[in-house]
Amino acid sequence: MKVIDHIKNAEGKTLFSFEIIPPVKGKNIQELYDNIDPLMEFKPPFIDVTTSREEYVYIDRDGLLDKKLTRMRPGTVGICASIKHKYDVDTVPHVLCGGFTREETEYLLVDCHYLGIQNVMALRGDAMKEEKYFNPIQGGHTYAIGLVKQIQNLNRGKYLHEVIETDECADFCIGVAGYPEKHLEAPSLQSDLKRLKEKVDAGADYVVTQMFFDNQKYFQFVEAAKAMGINVPIIPGIKPIAIKRHLQLLPQVFRIDIPQELIEAVDDCKNNAAVRQIGIEWAIQQSNELKAAGVPVLHYYSMGKSDNIKAIAKGVF
Ligand code: FAD
Repeated sequence: MKVIDHIKNAEGKTLFSFEIIPPVKGKNIQELYDNIDPLMEFKPPFIDVTTSREEYVYIDRDGLLDKKLTRMRPGTVGICASIKHKYDVDTVPHVLCGGFTREETEYLLVDCHYLGIQNVMALRGDAMKEEKYFNPIQGGHTYAIGLVKQIQNLNRGKYLHEVIETDECADFCIGVAGYPEKHLEAPSLQSDLKRLKEKVDAGADYVVTQMFFDNQKYFQFVEAAKAMGINVPIIPGIKPIAIKRHLQLLPQVFRIDIPQELIEAVDDCKNNAAVRQIGIEWAIQQSNELKAAGVPVLHYYSMGKSDNIKAIAKGVF
């Protein structure tokens, strides 16, 4: 079922969902299942599976270093299919511009259609680790809106090189990313919101936000989005702080603010177990306020670990 239909069917009740990341190459899927199992009691109607950007590895060939591109965490669509069938839950693969040609994206979407996957998140992807700015590959999209348009075309039977109109066409529900504290490259929040509106006008059905730690940022963002004519559901993304280093890392990577009260609480912690507990308590507080405000879904960034997400869900659902 589509994410937007899950939201409609919930009739105002806030749903629980979460995002997982594929294991690194060489591992099997069991650890992922072990982390999903404890969260199923909260009945997520859908689970997101991220896609990682490719990265460079250097292979020693007789003393010369050979630079090769590889994906450390492949398997997004396969994981989506296995989770969907194991748990009878909808899955949402993240589809990236970065590193994929339009043709590869088309084949990926065809795979999703055959597997009964009805939702996709259309994302640009970040710059590669070694690059300062995002660079599309030849034949790939530059912005997420290109993906949204390609997916919408496919929904109408318009493939890249042919039109195939049947009543068995794909009918993907499309999610896109939104940034309550603006995307790091956007010149202003207002211009970023305009870009978001363009994605919605191109056919995005819902928005999932970047993590934030101050609910006021989300509420203001939703208000500004509505004022701009964005009328699709805006799902808040929540990430619990789990280690002390997150205080530097998260603002650096995502350009988000951390409230002073949370900084002080984390600073006072003697060890990472205490930090994890603070993160859980903060996320529960945040989630309960968002739930009381009637958000459609609370979407948690699990980073592959379920213990803290379970503790949060227990305090909220
Ligand atoms: P876009 O919507 O393309 O926007 C990127 C930037 O370009 C913004 O600053 C925007 O304002 C600007 N822009 C947009 N259109 C135009 C235009 N036409 N002209 C000029 N400027 C424009 N990354 C991954 O690698 N894998 C994942 O699985 C993943 N999942 C994510 C899930 C969520 C919920 C979120 C919030 C982010 C996720 N990301 C993921 C990170 C995401 O890929 C990055 O934040 C990326 O830098 C931007 O992606 P976007 O889809 O928002 O890009």
